[in-house]
Amino acid sequence: MMFDNARIKLTAWYLLIIMAVSIAFSLFIFRVADHEMVRIDRRQQLLRERFKIEMFRRGMLEDYNVPIDIIDLRKRIIFTLSLVNLVIFMIAGGAGYFLAGRTLKPIKDMIDEQSRFISDASHELRTPLTSLRSAMEVHLRDKKLSLAQAKSLIAANIDDVNKLQSLSDALLQLAQYQKPNHSWLVEPLRVDQLVQQAVRRLEILAKKKNINIKNQAENHKMEGNKQGLIDLLVILLDNAVKYSPPNSQIVINSKKTDRSVSVSVKDEGIGIAGKDIPFIFDRFFRSDYSRSKTKATGYGLGLSIAKKITDLHRGTISVDSKPDYGSLFTVRLPVKQSSHKS
Ligand code: ADP
Repeated sequence: MMFDNARIKLTAWYLLIIMAVSIAFSLFIFRVADHEMVRIDRRQQLLRERFKIEMFRRGMLEDYNVPIDIIDLRKRIIFTLSLVNLVIFMIAGGAGYFLAGRTLKPIKDMIDEQSRFISDASHELRTPLTSLRSAMEVHLRDKKLSLAQAKSLIAANIDDVNKLQSLSDALLQLAQYQKPNHSWLVEPLRVDQLVQQAVRRLEILAKKKNINIKNQAENHKMEGNKQGLIDLLVILLDNAVKYSPPNSQIVINSKKTDRSVSVSVKDEGIGIAGKDIPFIFDRFFRSDYSRSKTKATGYGLGLSIAKKITDLHRGTISVDSKPDYGSLFTVRLPVKQSSHKS
């Protein structure tokens, strides 16, 4: 509705400008033509006078007076110019409406995306908040609540609050990368160093499950946003650890061609069912398989953030996975980043 209103308003502005120019131009043409007609008419009258005198002298008295009909000509010019203006009005109206639609489309898409994001996010926040509140209410009503029970309630609450915090952190991170005028510091980087920093952030988690992270990334040089790329690798590694059984292995590899660098993260985890693969980069998507097979918590935001970061680098992210065997995530990024804001 708002979009349609804006579209009509924008069309009206286009039309106003084009018609103002067109009418001014028509008036100018009319004045020039009128001026010219009057001049020609006057000259012809003069010629006719001379002609008449000549004829008179020769004793011929027929009337050769056929003056041009200025009034009629004027009417015809006005008619033609009005017709031209009408045609311009119609074409400009149609084209304006079309162009206004095209101009506003990205803005509309962005607004739709933002409101979808807000409604998704509030929905996700509501569920844990409701359970948190009802747990507290139930315990509060319990008159015989012991100190030990109260303590265990608080511990459970802290768990919930931690989850909520990680949700809000992920939402903030996603919103930050989703900003339309996200300005982006691009610097020369080394792939092996990026991977090292990401691995360091997951060491403790991996150690808890006795998962070995094998870093085989090489010292390829590339350009990119350091924090963004580390976040991206952390997300892939975090998933690999989360969805892998204890005592397994995660291998990170890198490859370089003239134009691109690819980094892959391979795990021996639960894998992803073929039917779920098209959706794993969607916001809030979590496969039923991973939910039923593991106790891994998450909100389905990681991969959508990873995808956003890859897009900002004009790269691609792909996955190859087989349930119960493992997954291979590959990120391919251009070596050079043309300086851009996206
Ligand atoms: P989550 O917070 O649920 O991990 P992600 O967006 O990171 O959210 O991932 C979306 C879904 O993709 C996960 O819920 C899981 O089902 C699947 N997935 C992602 N990475 C892996 C992996 N390495 N192994 C198996 N499944 C994975």
